Amino acid sequence: TANGDTNGVSIGEPHKTFDTILVLDFGSQYSHLITRRLRELNVYSEMLPCTQKLADLTWKPKGIILSGGPYSVYSSDAPHADPAVFELGVPILGICYGLQEIAWSLDNKNVVSGEKREYGHATVKIQKHSGKEAHIDRLFQDLGEDLEVWMSHGDKLSQLPAGFEPVASTPNAPFAGIASTDRPLFGIQFHPEVTHTPKGKQLLSNFAVTICGARQDWTMEKFVDKEIERIRAMVGPKGQVIGAVSGGVDSTVAAKLMKEAIGDRFHAVLVDNGVLRLDEAKTVKKTLTEHLGINLTVIDSTDLFLGRLKGVSDPERKRKIIGNTFIEVFQDTAKSIAEAAKDSPKAGEIEFLLQGTLYPDVIESISFKGPSATIKTHHNVGGLLENMHLKLIEPLRELFKDEVRALGTNLGIPEELVWRHPFPGPGLAIRIIGEINEEQLRIAREADKIFIDEIVAAGLYRKISQAFAAVFPDTAKAVGVMGDKRVHGKVVTLRAVETTDFMTADWYPFEFDFLKRVSRRIVNEVDGACRVTYDITSKPPGTIEME
Ligand code: GLN
Repeated sequence: TANGDTNGVSIGEPHKTFDTILVLDFGSQYSHLITRRLRELNVYSEMLPCTQKLADLTWKPKGIILSGGPYSVYSSDAPHADPAVFELGVPILGICYGLQEIAWSLDNKNVVSGEKREYGHATVKIQKHSGKEAHIDRLFQDLGEDLEVWMSHGDKLSQLPAGFEPVASTPNAPFAGIASTDRPLFGIQFHPEVTHTPKGKQLLSNFAVTICGARQDWTMEKFVDKEIERIRAMVGPKGQVIGAVSGGVDSTVAAKLMKEAIGDRFHAVLVDNGVLRLDEAKTVKKTLTEHLGINLTVIDSTDLFLGRLKGVSDPERKRKIIGNTFIEVFQDTAKSIAEAAKDSPKAGEIEFLLQGTLYPDVIESISFKGPSATIKTHHNVGGLLENMHLKLIEPLRELFKDEVRALGTNLGIPEELVWRHPFPGPGLAIRIIGEINEEQLRIAREADKIFIDEIVAAGLYRKISQAFAAVFPDTAKAVGVMGDKRVHGKVVTLRAVETTDFMTADWYPFEFDFLKRVSRRIVNEVDGACRVTYDITSKPPGTIEME
C-alpha cells in the first residue's frame, strides 16, 4: 500500500519510531529533495502522494510539507490535499504549488495566473514582525534580510487569505512568503529544497525543528538498532530468509544487516554467471564470509550462462538470457537450501526473500504523476515470491543511497566496498559489444583491472562515479605493429563518468599522462589488445554502459 507495507509485514517502521515530517507530493520534480534535505538535518521524513487520505495513515506526522507541482490549483483537474490535513493541528508548510494549495483551500478565489512567469534566481526581502506577531518570523529566523532563492512558477496569490501576513516578498511577488497569525500555517513561493537556494536547508530546519519540534535523531547508529529489532520481530525466532548478493553496496549492506539480526538463518546466494570481473566471485566470497561472517553459498554457473550466450550479439537478448537464467539458478539453489533447512532442528522453513530495494525506487513507484500514472514494478521477483510462497523483506526500503553507505560503514563493511562503483546485472556481457567468447572476456577483465587499479592509484576512484573497460567486437579488429610484426588486435575502449544521479553524466577529464600510462599498460600487458580509445560521449546522448 502507499504506507509502504509489504505483504502485510510492517512492524515498527521508522515513522513509528522517529519524529517524522510528511511530504505530500503534488508532482514536482523536486519533491523527493525535500525529504533528502530533512534527512540531512537528521530529521526523518517520508513522501506520500498528495492524494493520501489521512484516515488511512497509521501514524501521526510532526509536520506536513505540501510540495510544488505542475498543475494550477484553480483548474478543474488539479489535485487537492485531503481537507483533514488542515484539521490535524500539526504545522504545515506549502512550497510553491503547496502555498497556492493552502491559500486555495481557505478561499478559492485568491490564486490567479500571473502576467509573467517567474523562473530562476530571485532575491526575497524578509519582513520582520513584532509583538503578538513575532512568532510568524520563525520560518525565516537566522536567514538575514535578503535571501537568494530559486523560483519556478506562473501562478500567484492575488491577495492574502484571511488571517495571513506576508513574511517575505520580491518586487514581482509580494507574497513570496506568508504565515497565518493564529495557526501554524506557512507558505513560500520559492523552492528551499534545491541547491540554487543556498540557505534553503536552514529554512527547512526552521520549519521542522523550530516550528514542528521534530527531534534530530535520524542517524544510522540509531536506525541500525531499531532495524535489527524490526527484522527479528518480522522473521520470528525460527524463521529463515534467503537473498541474492552481488558484491555491490546495497546487497552487501542488506545481507550484513540480516546477519546481525538473525545470524545463519539468513542464507546469501552468489551466482557466478560467467560475466563477472576478474576474480570477482572469489573476492566477494572472501569479504562476505571471512570479513563479514555471512552464511554464503556460491554457485558457479559459468558454463550454463556462457553456453546460452554463445552466438548471441543482440544486447536485449543477452540481458533476457542472463536475467532468466539467473532466476532459474537462484530458484534451484533456494529450493535445495530450503530442503536442507527443513530438517534443521534449530530453524523453520524459509519464509522470506531479501530484496535490497532503496527509497528512490519506492518514491518512483508512489510519486504523484496525475490520474493516468501507472505504477512501475522495479524488480522481477514476483515469480520467485509466488513459486516459493515467500514474503518480501526489504530492510533498506526507507533509505537513500548515501544513507545506505553510512549504514554500511556503521556495520563495519570495508570502505572500498561501501564506495564501490555500480556494476550492471548483465555484467561484462554488455561491455563486450557483440558476441561473447573466452578471449573477449579475458581482454575485458584484464584491461578493466588495469584501468581501475590506475584510477585508485591516482586517488580518483571516489571522484568518478563509474568507470570500466569495454571491448569492440571481433569483427572490428584494428591493425598494429608489435615487435616489427603486423598484428590484428582488439580495440579496448575506456569509459569513466561523473554524475550525481546517473540520469545525466559527463565523461571524466583525465590528465593526458594518466591516459598515456593506462594505454601503454593495456597494450603491453593484455595479450591480444592493440588499440586503446577513451570514450568522450556524455549522457545524454550516450548511455553509461556500452550496450
Ligand atoms: N503550477 C504552479 C505555478 O505555475 C506551481 C508551480 C510549482 O509548484 N513549481 O505557479
